[in-house]
Amino acid sequence: MEQELNSLRGTALNELSEITSKEALNDLKIKYLGKKGLLTGMLGQVVNEIRNEIEDIIATKLEAMKQAELSRKLASETIDVTLPGRSTELGHLHPLTLTLNRIKDTFMRMGFEIAEGPEVEKDYYNFEALNLPQDHPARDMQDSFYITKEFLLRTHTSPVQVRTLQSAEPNQPIRIIAPGKVYRRDYDATHSPMFQQVEGLVVDENISFADLKGTLELFLKETFGNRVNVRFRPSFFPFTEPSAEVDISCVMCEGKGCRVCSGTGWLEILGSGMVHPRVLEMSNFDPDKVSGFAFGMGVERIAMLTYGIDDLRLFFDNDMRFLRQF
Ligand SMILES: [Zn+2]
Repeated sequence: MEQELNSLRGTALNELSEITSKEALNDLKIKYLGKKGLLTGMLGQVVNEIRNEIEDIIATKLEAMKQAELSRKLASETIDVTLPGRSTELGHLHPLTLTLNRIKDTFMRMGFEIAEGPEVEKDYYNFEALNLPQDHPARDMQDSFYITKEFLLRTHTSPVQVRTLQSAEPNQPIRIIAPGKVYRRDYDATHSPMFQQVEGLVVDENISFADLKGTLELFLKETFGNRVNVRFRPSFFPFTEPSAEVDISCVMCEGKGCRVCSGTGWLEILGSGMVHPRVLEMSNFDPDKVSGFAFGMGVERIAMLTYGIDDLRLFFDNDMRFLRQF
């Protein structure tokens, strides 16, 4: 019996000495000490001594394996604390946002409020309520993105004017600007399928063309400086009558004539006019009691002239070398 036990002990220690993995260690433990293990069920002091001996060796080996694993991990995952850290870059406002903020600020100081509306707009608000019925030729000027026959991406922010008129008490004074994104099917150096407009609307008793002129002149001088000259040219828009294009003297050549102004010395900057009586009537305002003026401009164009940028697409390319300059 004792001889048998001694040989069993010898075999076990032999096997143990060759083990290099935790799995094999566990298998050996089951083989000798498990429920149906070779040393299980045997009684006696010698058996207990052998069991204890095997258990001790297993525990020691296991601890050594864990230590070795930890050292390996530490060696492979060293952190060099002397490396410089990665800093987070602080951003700033986009040049178009800066421009729009300045425009808003100027009009707010003149007592205008900001009005907003949906970018997916009903054909009715985008065209019809602005005196542009289904077959009106002026609709061709604004090749549009239609979602359905009834809904489209708005081609101008004018629907916000209609919505403001229709939600106001009839004949009550209105003084708003409507900034926002608009969409048309154009794409080249001076046109983008998405761009930003700011439109304005003033309605009250005794509003005349002089109010329109005074407001826009003040805005343009605030934006481009006091030395800028402003001129009004007769034009046509279906929702204003009379209508005028507004030009400023070229900010690049101060009116002498250059490539930017095509040698004319003038830059077209705004569309404007007195609100058409039909548009007032459609919103239940009485054109005999109140009158108003409206205007609209492109934010990108103002930004291009302010910063001297000649390609509109630079605004949307997200090139950091460009954006860092503002
Ligand atoms: Zn010029």
